[in-house]
Amino acid sequence: MTHLLVIGLDAATWSVIKPNLGVLPNFKQLMEEGQAKSLFVEGKILSAAVWCTIFSGKSVEEHGHDNFIKDGNVVKREDIKVEFIWDVLDGICDIRALQIPFVYPPYNFKCDYTPVEFGLSSKLDDLEQDTDGIFYKAIDILEENPDVFIVVFTALDKLQHFHWGEPIVLEWYKKFDKILGVLSKLAEKLIVVSDHGFCAKGEARERTLPDKTPEGELKGDHHEEAILITRGISYPIKTHKDIFYAIKEEVENAVKIGKSN
Ligand SMILES: [Zn+2]
Repeated sequence: MTHLLVIGLDAATWSVIKPNLGVLPNFKQLMEEGQAKSLFVEGKILSAAVWCTIFSGKSVEEHGHDNFIKDGNVVKREDIKVEFIWDVLDGICDIRALQIPFVYPPYNFKCDYTPVEFGLSSKLDDLEQDTDGIFYKAIDILEENPDVFIVVFTALDKLQHFHWGEPIVLEWYKKFDKILGVLSKLAEKLIVVSDHGFCAKGEARERTLPDKTPEGELKGDHHEEAILITRGISYPIKTHKDIFYAIKEEVENAVKIGKSN
């Protein structure tokens, strides 16, 4: 069985989850059995920057990466001069990462997956196909029992930008509740985290996107309060960058236990 599973849910927000726990049984169970809290983004609430912080353990000032595009060019992995958790732990354990959205298209480490679409799309069929594709790929990988597996889903962000306040948002949380239910049973320890929360665009601390895009009008925007649910993790996670150190400590402890056996 996989030792540690990290599930990233881009833009997952307590303001949808907590009032709807009656129809989100897996969120409810994981919150009751483990620990649930909020993480707050202090600087700019941009996915590229926060995912980079989560998996590098460095602040935006330290890693210097804050958006997918810089000076008109798409930023690539090689342009970001940091080691990510998979770089640090490779060789110490079997670690894989699937669709990590600090760059576009999302980054894979020792996983093979081509996204159905990426970028800001309002096409729900594409989002659904891509989410299912990542979900099935995640199951395949977990069946190979890597020590650490990290997967991030970005559909909620895109969905909420265009459909915030509509009933379809909760339908998608129900979909992710089922995904959580399946994946969480395939690992011993678990971290579920979002990079930021969500709110109506008028309530956002800052606007991350224009009102209108070629894909349609925007209704929602990023909120600074992100979600965190953990199971079996003792490292005190207080900010997003602590996730890097929590993963590292889990692996180091497991290696120690393995050696003493
Ligand atoms: Zn967004």
